[in-house]
Amino acid sequence: MILTPGATIGILGAGQLGRMLAMAAARLGLRSHIFAPETEAPAFDVASARTIGAYEDEAALTAFAEAVDVVTYEFENVPTSCVDFLSALRPVRPGARALSLTQDRLVEKSFLSDLGLRTAPFMAVEDAGALVRAVAALGRPSILKTRRFGYDGKGQALIREGSNLSALYRGLGGEPTILEGFVNFEREVSVIAARGLDGAFAAFDICENEHEKHILARTRVPAAIAPATAAAAVALARQIIEALDYVGVLAVEMFVTREADGLEGLVVNELAPRVHNSGHWTIDGAQTSQFEQHVRAIAGWPLGATTRRGRIEMHNLIGEEAAGWREILAEPGLCLHLYGKMEVRSGRKMGHVTRILPEGAK
Ligand code: AMP
Repeated sequence: MILTPGATIGILGAGQLGRMLAMAAARLGLRSHIFAPETEAPAFDVASARTIGAYEDEAALTAFAEAVDVVTYEFENVPTSCVDFLSALRPVRPGARALSLTQDRLVEKSFLSDLGLRTAPFMAVEDAGALVRAVAALGRPSILKTRRFGYDGKGQALIREGSNLSALYRGLGGEPTILEGFVNFEREVSVIAARGLDGAFAAFDICENEHEKHILARTRVPAAIAPATAAAAVALARQIIEALDYVGVLAVEMFVTREADGLEGLVVNELAPRVHNSGHWTIDGAQTSQFEQHVRAIAGWPLGATTRRGRIEMHNLIGEEAAGWREILAEPGLCLHLYGKMEVRSGRKMGHVTRILPEGAK
């Protein structure tokens, strides 16, 4: 099903990603209808309709589906039952498979390694005894992560020499976990890729990401990696997006390692079946933004050009940092984005700033 201008996209989730998707949709003459349980959230300000309801509320979901032409989601923790239910009523892009796969780190890593891609070595850990065996196999340091519902470093514990394994396991709430061997990486990069309904593929230039306290702090584009590594990263993202028969924007987070032969290697860390924070620079810094790209893809429209407008630095405004909005506005060359969040909390993403520098500038 291909949309025409005036059609309505339904978005599950009402955070800043939904907000920026709705803004991109509006520019293309499409309406957005947001479905989320919260009563106040960033996406509501910019959408033409909202449904406040639980993701399990089938009556609310039915009414929502009847009011929209296509459904997408802006975060991956929407219950799969919700997407399965909606799929019977309207096209859901990307579909239920990408969602269920990325909700569980073990399933995701198994999918990647079945594709022949390199990931951190991993083992499922179902209890404290299994953790002892997994640490013996994968060594220290290693990272214990909950299989589900982890984000921004939540649900993770670093295992070092001397760490008390059973205490660490209990600290993650006794949920199913996965142990990952520690990857000694040089840098972290991401590929923001897209696939159209017709199978067309496009990717933005590779983003280099710096985290602080597990939260993305800065993205620089292009990443300081060899051209062959950048090409390999895009090829890898393409392999993943095609294996999933995916429609929309997909983010692939990777580690860049330095191999024994002196060359760079790529280890896939995580997939996000949605637009991604490391792609926010594309609003100001690329011919088509990742949000417009996603809207084009799910509408069944041609993908846009991903041409970059210069060298880019994107900085997240976390918590109190957003209080500097006046100084940011006063500085020519900075593009300010605020997400309309009323309550400042430490660690909360309040907005971001993009700086575009001439290519070759320091
Ligand atoms: P994740 O939630 O899996 O994206 O992990 C959050 C951050 O923890 C990553 O961006 C890395 O900086 C770090 N990290 C995660 N897994 C590993 C690993 N296996 N080896 C080294 N660092 C990791």
